Amino acid sequence: MPLSNGLEMPLLGLGVWQVPDGEQTENAVSWALEAGYRHVDTAQVYGNESAVGRAIHSSGLRREEVFVTTKLNPQTKDAGRAIQESLGRLRLDHVDLFLIHWPSAGAVEQWGALELAYDQGLARTIGVSNWGSRELDALVRRGRIKPLVDQVQFSPFQFRRALLEHSRRLQITLEAYSPLTRGRSLENPTIARVARDLDRTPAQVMLRWAIERDIPVIPKSTHRARIVENAQIFDFQLAPDAIDALDALDQTGGTGSAR
Ligand code: NDP
Repeated sequence: MPLSNGLEMPLLGLGVWQVPDGEQTENAVSWALEAGYRHVDTAQVYGNESAVGRAIHSSGLRREEVFVTTKLNPQTKDAGRAIQESLGRLRLDHVDLFLIHWPSAGAVEQWGALELAYDQGLARTIGVSNWGSRELDALVRRGRIKPLVDQVQFSPFQFRRALLEHSRRLQITLEAYSPLTRGRSLENPTIARVARDLDRTPAQVMLRWAIERDIPVIPKSTHRARIVENAQIFDFQLAPDAIDALDALDQTGGTGSAR
């Protein structure tokens, strides 16, 4: 999926929220890279950047083969220093995407620090997370560089259609976090029916729903078999009537807001 600056962002990434630093994160990331994932999503507040870095370094893959995202903790006092510290923990000289984790009173100043990191090559792309349409407009007005990505909660149940359309108008890539609704809706009857018809799993159907719209997804799992399962989403398609049925599961009213 090309971002608006031309950088390729793999449509599938592994998320590692709530995975403890150390062996669990290292294993999950290593298994994902073995299964063909080329994109990992971490954050300062997850506390596991070090283990993500170790898994990437021990994978034998070249740096440019793996797309690495991390996120600035908006409560941090010195954003410039926090960016350097993330790179130190990851043992990387740059990340592919640095996001501000959520909007806060210091967002404009923090965005300035990310712009500087972009200028210095410490982040190949910069963006935001949990920003709604109005917040995106405000940042686009005030910033020197436009955010390239907005990572938000997005799934058939959180189908923020107005936000998707607005971010596309602004040429900002919407990226889906919690694409499996944290595992809560995998037994929904509509999801189960579509999965049964296609001989796929509910998780694959939910991920494919986003992929059909070229929306990057970052499912989290610490189980190797599920990590593999979640990657098998590029060899089938959802028919238009299945997409319509999944779209109808939305519980946000097609909101333009991120939360
Ligand atoms: P997901 O929607 O990815 O769901 C993860 C849950 O689903 C886990 O409990 C996992 O269990 C389970 N699961 C995964 N695969 C399967 C499967 N094939 N079958 C059955 N159950 C499965 O939730 P997250 O909230 O973790 O979102 C994904 C990522 O998005 C995060 O890890 C993080 O990187 C990012 N994120 C970003 C946020 C932000 O504010 N920017 C907020 C929230 C998430 P198990 O691990 O036991 O397999």
